[in-house]
Amino acid sequence: TQKFSVSNQNPIHGKMGRVPVGIGRRRMRIVVTGGAGFVGSHLVDKLIGRGDEVIVIDNFFTGRKENVVHLFGNPRFELIRHDVVEPILLEVDQIYHLACPASPVHYKYNPVKTIKTNVMGTLNMLGLAKRVGARFLLTSTSEVYGDPLQHPQKETYWGNVNPIGERSCYDEGKRTAETLTMDYHRGDGVEVRIARIFNTYGPRMCLDDGRVVSNFVAQAIRKQPMTVYGDGKQTRSFQYVSDLVDGLVALMEGEHIGPFNLGNPGEFTMLELAEVVKDTIDPSATIEYKPNTADDPHMRKPDISKAKELLNWEPKIPLREGLPLMVNDFRNRILNEDEGKGA
Ligand code: NAD
Ligand code: UDP
Ligand code: UDP
Repeated sequence: TQKFSVSNQNPIHGKMGRVPVGIGRRRMRIVVTGGAGFVGSHLVDKLIGRGDEVIVIDNFFTGRKENVVHLFGNPRFELIRHDVVEPILLEVDQIYHLACPASPVHYKYNPVKTIKTNVMGTLNMLGLAKRVGARFLLTSTSEVYGDPLQHPQKETYWGNVNPIGERSCYDEGKRTAETLTMDYHRGDGVEVRIARIFNTYGPRMCLDDGRVVSNFVAQAIRKQPMTVYGDGKQTRSFQYVSDLVDGLVALMEGEHIGPFNLGNPGEFTMLELAEVVKDTIDPSATIEYKPNTADDPHMRKPDISKAKELLNWEPKIPLREGLPLMVNDFRNRILNEDEGKGA
């Protein structure tokens, strides 16, 4: 909902032959892969809002047109249905590479495709960055730390990852993507940035993606018990999506390659999260215990001192403030779904 005014632009041409935005910055053309997804669509809103041109590449595996439909008709927005596993030719200034299923349910659905997306997809986007001299940002993940033996996790930690487990397609896929990114930087001089994103929540998450926040919120709204896996004592640290988007942009625009942890250090057990959801949505909500999944990390919490110091970034929205912001969106979508079923 940021305002953009065309009238304050100077007709001076930038590197790619486009007019600058505001004072001191030219308009850029930016690719966001996975831009029809949860995080990607919020990032696109921010980039469009500040006056840039955005091309979204998405194969709609987990993304939805609804996430970007409000931008249709905007002359600075373009949506391409394309799978990043296949090469593509574009002329751009920056590439935010997000395309990849992110929730365990989605990335385990077709693990080989998840690896191909992470390896071949990242290779293609780096090849594109190299050809046109674009700056490339990889959205990696806290999963590169695996089931961490260091707590909280610093960027210097190399991780504890099972190479042959059910989560490996994602964890090892992202680790390889980081390797490719650094090799294109060292070998070909590509300007790169690496973000390691910790659990993020907010409006537009898939209702059925199986992640804990979306599950608990949808369950509480539907008056179903919240499903706690295992003993519920495992921890995660939950970041509101706008904080992440600010961090990604600060990283892209800054001078440092990274990797940078981008997450909210507020740490919760799953039982504590269930309490917060209960307080926020329905005091009568109940929980139900289910067996845990394989290789579930026991704890996770980012050390964000590096991002604080070098990117001047830190999250602003604690869980108790962020959760209500996603509940309205979930309520509306669940209501629409029920109406669609004739309920
Ligand atoms: P999401 O599933 O909502 O978005 C991913 C998008 O990528 C979807 O729109 C999907 O359709 C698209 N996509 C998947 N495979 C593709 C392919 N082969 N070609 C083109 N498009 C493809 O997930 P998200 O939460 O928005 O995650 C975005 C990125 O952030 C991912 O790379 C994810 O690994 C990373 N990340 C997210 C979190 C989190 O908590 N949300 C945490 C760590 C890392
Ligand atoms: N690539 C792409 N778009 C481009 C440039 C390259 O999709 O604009 C793909 C290309 O098809 C290749 C990959 O990126 O599969 C890596 O490209 P690079 O030039 O680094 O390697 P090469 O083509 O020499 O193997
Ligand atoms: N989890 C849970 N109930 C659910 C979904 C997940 O208790 O309905 C737990 C899961 O076992 C894990 C944590 O919540 O310990 C976070 O899971 P999620 O899939 O959201 O993300 P992850 O951090 O594991 O990628």
